[in-house]
Amino acid sequence: MTRKLLLLPLLLTMACTSTEKTEPLGEEWEPYNLVVRHQDHIRFSFPASGFAFEQKDQFVQDVYAALESNAKILGIPEYNEYFKVFFHSSRSEVEKFTGMAAAGIANVWTRELHMAAYTDEESDSTDFVLNPPIIHEMMHLMSCTTWGYPHQNLQWLNEGLATYAADNCNGYTIAEIYRYMLDEGHAYSAADFDRHFYELEEMIGYHQSAYYVECLIEIHGMEKFQEFWQSNHANFEEVYGMSFEAFIEAANERVMRIVPEKPNIDWNEFIKGCF
Ligand SMILES: [Zn+2]
Repeated sequence: MTRKLLLLPLLLTMACTSTEKTEPLGEEWEPYNLVVRHQDHIRFSFPASGFAFEQKDQFVQDVYAALESNAKILGIPEYNEYFKVFFHSSRSEVEKFTGMAAAGIANVWTRELHMAAYTDEESDSTDFVLNPPIIHEMMHLMSCTTWGYPHQNLQWLNEGLATYAADNCNGYTIAEIYRYMLDEGHAYSAADFDRHFYELEEMIGYHQSAYYVECLIEIHGMEKFQEFWQSNHANFEEVYGMSFEAFIEAANERVMRIVPEKPNIDWNEFIKGCF
């Protein structure tokens, strides 16, 4: 009883001292304002103002929608792994957290997604990000934590699956974009896919890969896709029973059937990115 009575004044004194003792930050320090939310197995973080802040409820909803649609593609009932999603108010803010000034990055090892969301007005950059690549980055996280990180020479499959999951770039489907690239001679050759994937022009490489992933999944099924994911590009023929070149030929015939007319894509705009 005595101890309890003694403890209360002590706590009150401590509380008073800590508020009184707040000292100004040194010049090298600055406050950093975030709003955070922890829901189910997900930690959300947003800047405390600006476009990303205003859109936070919509983006949280988009994360849940991506969980569902990506799980469906992967053929898993649900995805319950813990992860964190950080939205930032510029690409340079993404760079501070990841080392890369990208619109979106998934770190599969730390289970963190970092995405930029901002208008032109609130950034020094002119390439606003109104639609952060939520489905794309979520698919990297979900596929790589479910099946493991693919072999170095299957980066095209990893990016292709994430791009296929979103299946939309400025209103065009993956198949429509591939049909246009094929007609206009923008598509890479089968041999180019053996090169280091990240050396290819991003908008072409990602969408071409996405169309091949679409064919692999929709024609040959998820079981083989997973087998190939956990294998090696050199084993394509072993897994699919045909050469990569023969597969591409069939994929080209398919796109002519499902997209009978060349879409009217403005290439100079397309190559700038999906917005
Ligand atoms: Zn990606």
